[in-house]
Amino acid sequence: MTEYRPVTAHVVERLQNILGARNVSCDADKLLTYSRDEVQGPFWKDGCLAEVVVFPESTEDVAALVRLAGEERIPLTARGAGTGLSGGAVPARRGIVVSFEKMNRIIELDRENLTLTVEPGVVTAEINRAAVDAGLLYAGDPCSGDASFIGGNVAENAGGNKVVKYGPTGSHVLALEAVMADGSVTWFGGKRRKDVTGYDFVHLLVGSEGTLALITKIVLKLLPLPAEVVDLLVPFPDVASAVAFVPRIVTEGKVLPASIEFMDRRSINLTERFLNTNLPYSDAGAHLIIQLEGNDAESLADEYERIGDLCLAHGALEVFVADNRNSRDKLWKARKSITESVWAFHPGKNVNEDVVVPTGAVPELMRRLDEIVTRAGSAYVVFGHIGDGNMHVTAAPAPEEPDRESILHRIQDELYDVVKSLGGTLTGEHGVGLKRRDAITRFLDATQIDLIRRVKLAFDPQNILNPDKIVPWE
Ligand SMILES: Cc1cc2nc3c(=O)[nH]c(=O)nc-3n(C[C@H](O)[C@H](O)[C@H](O)COP(=O)(O)OP(=O)(O)OC[C@H]3O[C@@H](n4cnc5c(N)ncnc54)[C@H](O)[C@@H]3O)c2cc1C
Repeated sequence: MTEYRPVTAHVVERLQNILGARNVSCDADKLLTYSRDEVQGPFWKDGCLAEVVVFPESTEDVAALVRLAGEERIPLTARGAGTGLSGGAVPARRGIVVSFEKMNRIIELDRENLTLTVEPGVVTAEINRAAVDAGLLYAGDPCSGDASFIGGNVAENAGGNKVVKYGPTGSHVLALEAVMADGSVTWFGGKRRKDVTGYDFVHLLVGSEGTLALITKIVLKLLPLPAEVVDLLVPFPDVASAVAFVPRIVTEGKVLPASIEFMDRRSINLTERFLNTNLPYSDAGAHLIIQLEGNDAESLADEYERIGDLCLAHGALEVFVADNRNSRDKLWKARKSITESVWAFHPGKNVNEDVVVPTGAVPELMRRLDEIVTRAGSAYVVFGHIGDGNMHVTAAPAPEEPDRESILHRIQDELYDVVKSLGGTLTGEHGVGLKRRDAITRFLDATQIDLIRRVKLAFDPQNILNPDKIVPWE
């Protein structure tokens, strides 16, 4: 196991000299706040507490503090908005937490090349708005977008609601400025749309969870903004009929929607209670949200009527069309609030999974999930990005259940077996981080785990960048 040195008063003084005293904090409340993300009832032991939190304002600041950490052999953990669901931003080996919240400038919108260059601390929704203001689309759309930072999205290769058509965050990243573990600064990629000059380091850094380099600038790809958007909310009598319908949207409906989202009855009921609102047919077994877009209102209307008829022909109870700002906002507010509503009504340590299977295996996954959780006598909620085969599962045995801990582990264990047998994997978008680090060996073989360790050490020979994440090190 790598040995690290503590953050001494002398190190704090050196950090203050580099960043200014206002950008260095050892305040106890701040250390606690900046040492956690949104993982509820963590599965790891306490003790992952930052010794100091720093707030760089420029790439030069980041480079200087990385050089200092290397000289002193102190771990550094990058932090975006802390909305992560894998413990990625948790300082597993203590040391310095590097918050990017002050590096939050939109640097350039280039209309000629359709790119947006930003610092990592820009909130995702601001990027969406900046693109729309220019009549363009940034297609990244995680449900946490009102809070998450683009740097965190890149480091996790965040998914969200438009992946089925536009791909995850990585599909929108053209170039990255990175501070390497030795403090050197380099640009990977550029504004060009093609590039096979050497390895694709841009997309190695995407999803690397702050373990290979610190990202200090990002060039994003922009797209034409569709003029017309419509959301269909489609209740089905049960989970099986909703899930079975999904592939027909493409195969028979012959459209590729921007979003295909799934909510089971419990998710709908929880989000209704949480928001104190009502959704139509909230006693239905499951709902789909299907988002369609285009440039011509009439042809979009033809398209949604065709998809609506197809839904009804395959068992849908009704098709609700949200074609104005208010109804669409209400619908997406409900969808995007499910995670928080699950936490509000099922607080504490539960099984919260982000599994992904090939889309054709979703019906079998849902059948087996129901068997596993019902056999364990637990309540559960399932929702997610069904168009990508990425389902979010929370299993929450009753708090008074004496055997709660072992039930949770059994559900997780059996679920992982099923996901693997269906050709799926551990996490589709939330990342491995600390939370899933020990489970990764069930999904990747020894060759791949060894390669991850060697790539990590090639980038970061002293193992100071977000150590103890993604794969077990001991
Ligand atoms: C209510 C809710 C809904 C969510 N919905 C979605 C969803 O739809 N889709 C989805 O994919 N995720 C979702 N998430 C998870 C989370 O929002 C994403 O993982 C997001 O990308 C994290 O961004 P962040 O800025 O909060 O990063 P953090 O949590 O702060 O950090 C995440 C990781 O990024 C690294 N990192 C941060 N900045 C940098 C940098 N500049 N350089 C290098 N590494 C860096 C950190 O070290 C850490 O490993 C949701 C979370 C919540 C709470």
